[in-house]
Amino acid sequence: MQDAFELHVNPARIIFGDGSLSRTAEMVRDLGCSRALVLSTPQQKQQAEELSKTIGDLSAGVYANATMHIPIEVTEDALKTLKSSHADCTIAIGGGSTTGLGKALAYRTDMPQIVIPTTYAGSEVTPILGQTQDGVKTTVSDPKILPEIVIYDPQLTYSLPASMTVTSAFNGLGHAAEALYAQNRNPISTLMAVEGARALIEALPAITSDPQSREGRRDALYGAWLCGTVLASVGMALHHKLCHTLGGTFDLPHADTHAVVLPHAIAFNEVAVPDLLRPIANALEADEAGSALHEYAKSISAPTALKDIGMPEDGIERAAELAVNKPYWNPREFDREQIRRLIENAYHGRVPERLD
Ligand code: NAD
Repeated sequence: MQDAFELHVNPARIIFGDGSLSRTAEMVRDLGCSRALVLSTPQQKQQAEELSKTIGDLSAGVYANATMHIPIEVTEDALKTLKSSHADCTIAIGGGSTTGLGKALAYRTDMPQIVIPTTYAGSEVTPILGQTQDGVKTTVSDPKILPEIVIYDPQLTYSLPASMTVTSAFNGLGHAAEALYAQNRNPISTLMAVEGARALIEALPAITSDPQSREGRRDALYGAWLCGTVLASVGMALHHKLCHTLGGTFDLPHADTHAVVLPHAIAFNEVAVPDLLRPIANALEADEAGSALHEYAKSISAPTALKDIGMPEDGIERAAELAVNKPYWNPREFDREQIRRLIENAYHGRVPERLD
């Protein structure tokens, strides 16, 4: 029998498929807009300029200064360009950093957004914005932040470097794993989380052996969409809180942090909710999700140790303190010592423990 539930559906239009980038101009017109400012990072400037050229008169130019962690100064600089270009919508082409800049502009102007994701972070389908001021990252949620249209073209992910492909996929997997035990999960979020995790897990080995794998790239982006969608609709817990704390405190790369922490957070929570995490174990053809995620990470050369991605060893105590000082819901209760041991294990790249 089905338990009672509540479901919120975010009203975005999703366009998915090889070659769907070619529908960008049509999407600008469908929004009722006529001048789109194209956003990107400096690294993807050429791609943004090509897109700007392709949409011709519908382009209001390119702003190619999107930066990791969405610093307020960059948003303010982009706002000036937005105003002087007389744009009436934005197109963000890139990963979570570029998407974040588009969202930061929409939050301030309520301007319609098209997002064309080129990683698996999932930000494009959430109404959540993380931004940084004076080195402090805060998040805000608002319907204005949710992009109106998302164009998923798997061909744009062929260029994603192997290391980033793997860590970004773990970012997506983290959303799915925590959605499976979310307190406010519902039948739809669970269906999406199971399918999203399955698609990503099956796609990665194909992509790591052939980065141009058409099927692998398509399935991974499809999985990333589902994983991002559940991030937007249900609450996250220990894994996301730990990544937020570690990433923010030690300025660690976002996706890499997810890759290292996920097996540990899941092995810990699995003690309380093994049945809810069974779909992850099943997708990995294993009995336990946490240890299987660790093996899987090693098999596809994902980072497995915080010490390898820039965390200082003397930060373990501080991180444990920060991670427990604000209470939040998690399927398993924890204390400071358990979290310290979890972070210490992740720091050294050890096999995840149950930490009873
Ligand atoms: P990113 O956007 O920072 O990209 C990393 C680098 O890879 C950039 O230089 C980018 O230009 C490049 N790149 C991206 N796609 C490429 C491709 N296909 N080919 C070649 N290079 C490519 O990385 P990310 O992990 O996607 O985003 C991380 C940011 O997103 C963090 O700030 C995180 O907080 C945020 N995020 C937000 C949400 C949300 O819901 N608000 C969700 C997930 C992530």
